[in-house]
Amino acid sequence: MLRLSILGASGSIGRQALQVVDQLPTRIQVVAMTAGNDWRFLATAALRYRPLLVAVAEESCYVPLREALAGSGIAVAAGAEGLVAAATLAEADMVLAAISGLAGLPPLLAAIAAEKAIALANKESLVAAGSLVMPQIRARGLTLNPVDSEHAALWQCLRGECRQEAARLILTASGGAFRDKSAAELAQATPEQALRHPNWRMGAKITIDCATMVNKGLEVIEAHWLFDMPYAQIDVLVHPESIVHSLVVFRDGSVKAQLGLPDMRLPIQYALLGGERPAGGVAAPDLAAVGALHFRQPDDLRFPALHLFRRAGETGGDAPAYLNGANEVLVAAFLQEKIAFPVIAEALGELSALHRAAPVVTAEDVFAADAAGRQAAREFIGGKHFDCNRSDPGILSIDPEP
Ligand code: MG
Repeated sequence: MLRLSILGASGSIGRQALQVVDQLPTRIQVVAMTAGNDWRFLATAALRYRPLLVAVAEESCYVPLREALAGSGIAVAAGAEGLVAAATLAEADMVLAAISGLAGLPPLLAAIAAEKAIALANKESLVAAGSLVMPQIRARGLTLNPVDSEHAALWQCLRGECRQEAARLILTASGGAFRDKSAAELAQATPEQALRHPNWRMGAKITIDCATMVNKGLEVIEAHWLFDMPYAQIDVLVHPESIVHSLVVFRDGSVKAQLGLPDMRLPIQYALLGGERPAGGVAAPDLAAVGALHFRQPDDLRFPALHLFRRAGETGGDAPAYLNGANEVLVAAFLQEKIAFPVIAEALGELSALHRAAPVVTAEDVFAADAAGRQAAREFIGGKHFDCNRSDPGILSIDPEP
């Protein structure tokens, strides 16, 4: 029985993880759950899954959550300390790190310090702080199983292979909601259109990141850290069907791919169970019905953000943390209709050209770069004569789910 702590239980990954638990009740027991501010969801889920501890990040939600669970015997915590308590709970074997954005980094670092096995859905932590996270994982010999579908696919392709024989990693990208839109159409794009992802059901932040291709840039950096692969050997192909989740090219010219329906429950289950394959709730794709699988090069002219994040990864130091912080503010501003869609990539280009990367030695360096990126993005937006005073990127940082 795997005893699981879910950080970000009310988000898209967290909710789908609970569906995986529903399918495998004799294999996985939820011992802790957290949410950003959705205390009602947390209370309902806690009464169903009976964890030992629930924690809500937003302190003002503590009292209503505690009252909702009065007499249940379930411990209730709040704030940053509450998240750390859930990440380090003695009874947890594994922590599912599924808080969105850099807000997920402190509890992830706490879970690593407590030597928990990690199922990682929070890609921003690795993007911004890979140089801190990965050496600790390796030095402590901890398990770090990727939940991101592309990285779960690469992991599956690499299992049983000699790592030195893998020549290239190829991440597939659906291309997002605006894959086939012209530059003129992109200038008019609304948040509502951007949130309509053709293949995947996900949270708001990541769905916008798919539309800009920022998400694939983040995933290139994530793949670099997870698989210790140089950037020059990580490629991206646009694959509109989202059936092939990623591929590995071996030096003898052979290519392995992992195929499946675009359903996050599959990589979540695989990551939680460390590569075991019990029957779950996901069917195999009907390839005859799919008919054709297409692949093409990404378009850097319409979607420059992929290249910008790749370059930030190659630059290293605090460059990815800075650009990621800026992106969180820009996505929030676009969702609030304060900036046009192409301004996200335009701002990322200008800001990354201005930023001089500094080394990352501690988590404070990461948060400082994140704050600087956020501030620079706010100033960029302000310079564009958009009102950004109401912008509250903090809301986006934890559980962007409606
Ligand atoms: Mg992904």
